[in-house]
Amino acid sequence: MMKAAVVYGKNEIRIQSVPVPEISEGEVLVKVRASGICATDIKTLLGQGLPKNLPAILGHEVAGSIERIGPGVRGLSVGARVAVYPIAVCGECFYCKQERHNLCLSEFGLGHGIDGGFAQFVRIPREIVKIGGVVEIPEKLSYEQAAVAEPLSCCLAAARAGKLGEGDTVLVVGAGPLGLLHLKTGNWLKAKVIMADLRRDRLEMAAGMGAAHCINAGEEDVVEEVRRFTGGLGADLVVAALGLPEIMAQYLPAVRNGGTFNIFGGPPAGRPVPVDFRWIHYAEVVLTGTFASTPEDFRLALELIGSGEVKVDDLISHRFALENMLEAVDLAQKQEIIKGVIMIPEEDG
Ligand SMILES: [Zn+2]
Ligand SMILES: [Zn+2]
Repeated sequence: MMKAAVVYGKNEIRIQSVPVPEISEGEVLVKVRASGICATDIKTLLGQGLPKNLPAILGHEVAGSIERIGPGVRGLSVGARVAVYPIAVCGECFYCKQERHNLCLSEFGLGHGIDGGFAQFVRIPREIVKIGGVVEIPEKLSYEQAAVAEPLSCCLAAARAGKLGEGDTVLVVGAGPLGLLHLKTGNWLKAKVIMADLRRDRLEMAAGMGAAHCINAGEEDVVEEVRRFTGGLGADLVVAALGLPEIMAQYLPAVRNGGTFNIFGGPPAGRPVPVDFRWIHYAEVVLTGTFASTPEDFRLALELIGSGEVKVDDLISHRFALENMLEAVDLAQKQEIIKGVIMIPEEDG
């Protein structure tokens, strides 16, 4: 048996003893050591997109060690320290062939169709193993650092879609954990990063992490400030790292002509907002979204964290034992933590 944080319904999570998952051909059993708490988990718990089959175990930012290997798995060994790309894909559809795995027509994943990493052990299905989604991590990389690779990979995907490069200006709306990872991504690419948020403490943090400019959205006109900072042009890329459509729409004019506006935070269902097509046409703005990442982004994220090119230690503000999952969720809902990670000690299994 193993300990797990099991979701039974909206805001209903129980710490329970459940059977250790069985694995079969092509699969891997990972002993979880660090499991990041994501905004998606919190949204899910609040009832937005609860898994169809309950009870379920959430958690898709997983690092740990390989406990068991099913027949036919090559290139991985028991005891290896790994991080896990959380999306299981068919590998054969139109999107998989283009390496746009996150758009796979029969996609599912950890905490989203199958049990995830808020447990002592997690079964990694063959659909993840066969695309190289179980990635060995270097000795010097801690499990908690490795668990941040998944959210970082989503930011790398957004930068890639926005063709962000050296000298470009990117406006990141929202200085939460993902917003700050966008900042780090921008810094790595030598772009100038403008951060906008309502919270002074988060903006101070962003300034300390190298933001070129911070705008308090409660006190200043963000669009005007971005224009001023960019000599009247607007930002090359705007990343809306918050899930509120009405607020996102306010920032549309912050993007320059020909620039890209990325709806990065997952918006809730049934809340459309009006957009001026005339402006999109004449300004040749690319209005897009990115969600999750590809295995390629994920491996790059791990490399960048491993090499120290992107530092993530300063983002991990809270560590919780699995038993304290409820407290973690509560604090995350109140936005009192930046990045929270569930840590499971080695001897616990
Ligand atoms: Zn996530
Ligand atoms: Zn596919």
